[in-house]
Amino acid sequence: MRRKVIAGNWKMNNNLTESQNLISKLIEGLGKEKTNCEVIICPPFTSLSLAASLISGSIIKLGAQNMYFEENGAYTGEISASMLLSSGCEYVILGHSERRHIFGETDDLINKKIKKALSSGLKPIFCVGETLDERESGVTNEIIKRQVYEGLNGLSEKDLDTIIIAYEPVWAIGTGKTATPNQAQEVHNFIRNLISDKFSSAAAEKIIIQYGGSVKPDNAKELLSQKDIDGALVGGACLKAESFIGIIQAA
Ligand code: PEP
Repeated sequence: MRRKVIAGNWKMNNNLTESQNLISKLIEGLGKEKTNCEVIICPPFTSLSLAASLISGSIIKLGAQNMYFEENGAYTGEISASMLLSSGCEYVILGHSERRHIFGETDDLINKKIKKALSSGLKPIFCVGETLDERESGVTNEIIKRQVYEGLNGLSEKDLDTIIIAYEPVWAIGTGKTATPNQAQEVHNFIRNLISDKFSSAAAEKIIIQYGGSVKPDNAKELLSQKDIDGALVGGACLKAESFIGIIQAA
């Protein structure tokens, strides 16, 4: 039985005061909850240290939204794996569709970042997903296969123990359009089969595959009850404590 993992991607939202308020509400709300699922928040870089101290002793774990693959040096504006570790991060989101489509990140770059995260002791939340055009042209599986295989290129089966894959159809992110539970389950099952073909059936059985794309408290239960959906990567709905906690309760 795989565990459920709910992660909140704050994106470019919340200054220090707003971060403190949201985390305090989450801790207060979750304190009363009995939850079997793993809960991760991914605030912007500037709030990571504060978040790390606020969540200490709670069930909440910390992740970042991006990192660069080099150790250090002349890479203005970038953040390294060791900086994230020293800020208290355990996870890092890599290959998010906004990084791919707004900032032009390629499969090769994402693969380098995944390798660096793993060799540094960070756990990647590796995002894949097709655009609306790609879905309507019938190439969803082809796109997902390329993203999964190129992103995981050169990794060992053991590496997969510390990777979470997030399937996030680009057309469902921030749009209010959610993939139907069947649509999501179909792609999750396809990804699990890809892992089985490239690594092993044991690796495929173990790997956590989250769904992301307009997950809300009222659609979370049905999505999360699908056989191959092991959690959610949540954007908009994680910015309000009540709705993020509602999704955690649904899991
Ligand atoms: C995301 O950014 O990963 C995401 C799924 O966003 P939203 O929940 O707002 O669609």
